[in-house]
Amino acid sequence: MIRGYAVVTRSPEDTRILGASLAPLLVPGDVVSLSGDLGAGKTVFVQGLAAALGIHGQVTSPTFTIVHQYEGQRYPIVHVDVYRLNSFQEVIDLGFEELIDPGAILVVEWGDAVAPLLPSRYLEVDIRRGQASPDDEREVSFCPHGPRWARKLEGMRPVAEALLDAASERSVGPRFVNLADVAPRDDVATNQPPAEG
Ligand code: ADP
Ligand code: MG
Repeated sequence: MIRGYAVVTRSPEDTRILGASLAPLLVPGDVVSLSGDLGAGKTVFVQGLAAALGIHGQVTSPTFTIVHQYEGQRYPIVHVDVYRLNSFQEVIDLGFEELIDPGAILVVEWGDAVAPLLPSRYLEVDIRRGQASPDDEREVSFCPHGPRWARKLEGMRPVAEALLDAASERSVGPRFVNLADVAPRDDVATNQPPAEG
């Protein structure tokens, strides 16, 4: 079982490409949780994902409205931002559990804050500013919770590599780093997902 991958992006466009690469692998019922500080690039990632799912309207952070719903070409997408919610109770009162809809793809900004309310199988995407260049560099890590997400990540990886390579001026070689190969960071979840039954 892979622990996940880390990728460094050097522009918002690269982060959109990562979101877009994930899009073809998503099916209704899938849950993607995004974590990272304000301004990390969670919404930018969702913009890439949404565009690749055929959502052409403006995708913005649902920070004040909490929930945005988009009609993708194939599936509905529910985009939630729980930043403004102060307590679990507020998140539950919002009807969060009903948002986990087998007929839609759910994307949650600040999903780490509501991790206990997420299903046992989901994709965790963590975005943080790069240390060398905090303005334009981001370290995006993908952690699968459940073997199916691990397989989806394996499918996404070559697509993302190819698209990132095509978008860059010069080839920089593979960008995905296996998280098992990097020193563990104490602030990244390393829980092994439960066996799929
Ligand atoms: P969040 O939703 O995490 O609060 P946003 O996606 O709204 O953050 O904003 C990310 C900001 O960071 C945008 O202004 C974007 O232009 C900027 N940015 C700079 N470099 C990157 C990068 N490599 N990836 C994503 N966003 C980046
Ligand atoms: Mg946002």
